[in-house]
Amino acid sequence: MFIDEAAFTIRAGDGGRGSASFRREKYVPKGGPDGGNGGKGADVVFVADENVNTLLDFRGVTELKAPHGENGRGKQQYGLDGEDLVVRVPPGTIVTNTQTNQVMADLKPGERVVLARGGRGGLGNDKLATSTNQAPKTAQPGEPGERFEVRLELKLLADVGIIGLPNAGKSTMLSVLTKATPKIANYPFTTLHPQLGIADLGENRRLVLADIPGLIEGAAEGAGLGHEFLRHVERTRVLMHVIDLAGCEEDVRAAGDGEEGGASEVARIAQAAVERYRTIRRELERYAPALAEKDEVVVLNKADLLDAETARGALGRFRSILQLGRDQEALLVSGAARLGTRELLETLWSMVRTRSPDWKPSVPTH
Ligand code: GDP
Ligand code: MG
Repeated sequence: MFIDEAAFTIRAGDGGRGSASFRREKYVPKGGPDGGNGGKGADVVFVADENVNTLLDFRGVTELKAPHGENGRGKQQYGLDGEDLVVRVPPGTIVTNTQTNQVMADLKPGERVVLARGGRGGLGNDKLATSTNQAPKTAQPGEPGERFEVRLELKLLADVGIIGLPNAGKSTMLSVLTKATPKIANYPFTTLHPQLGIADLGENRRLVLADIPGLIEGAAEGAGLGHEFLRHVERTRVLMHVIDLAGCEEDVRAAGDGEEGGASEVARIAQAAVERYRTIRRELERYAPALAEKDEVVVLNKADLLDAETARGALGRFRSILQLGRDQEALLVSGAARLGTRELLETLWSMVRTRSPDWKPSVPTH
């Protein structure tokens, strides 16, 4: 099991102080009490937002603090309530109070939970007046907001699944595209498990990528993909299908016929790439039909090893043989040389994001 973790203090706002004030009117020498109530302190609210997929935004956060209620003022003016602090977390986040070790929330998609309550505002002396004390000189203080330490835990699910033949460059791609490696919990692995990484695209945008190894190897043994394995990729929106384009060129050159760099060689390279592509697609449809339905980006990889013109020509032929439409992405990339990797990430992001047009950062920035 891959998990993402964070720990920090959450602190709801204190209630505002009530006001102790007396009316001052020109011709009324002894005005009565007119101090308004303090406002309520803001709550800390967690919302499970499907557009948030990791807890990375919380790295380095030590405290999340909601605003206090405003103090009351004279002339019966109430203090304003603090505005609740809304914190977006990924669905599936488990929140535990670290002092009591009590699980406070296990958030379902869209769920909203008040984790720390703001304090009530204090009453002003206007409200405290009684028949025996008609002019109280003091008002109530606000109540303090709740404050405690929490630990957040999330079982990571991949947004993007990386597939391809052995040696296509999947593991390299994962390590080049991702910055953070999630913690692997102490969990008895079956033989197959995905490698996960978190790609950081800047501006709080993250993608969880999973290298899905052994699709072919596992399937050949008749194992298919384990249930636990498939759970990690059940949320996968997009497949990144990696093909070793340099390997295709090598195969063609080893076969020996055709002029190097000529049109017929380019066509053969494209044909070899199409065959590799189809091999994986067949396995996918057979052993992981749910995954086979996902949107796909084809990555013609190791482009650093080919002459640029040959690589571009092969991409064009590859697209036309497979009759890829405009919306079907196929990119020339080199993971190892980091060519086209930025564009690849942006492409993946826009594909994953079609699900989430109203994306917002998870930790409010003040
Ligand atoms: P996987 O089996 O699909 O996970 O493939 P790996 O990531 O292990 O890569 C297989 C081999 O290809 C390794 O020797 C890598 O160093 C090499 N490789 C991967 N990506 C590139 C690339 O973009 N360019 C070049 N020249 N070599 C690459
Ligand atoms: Mg590998």
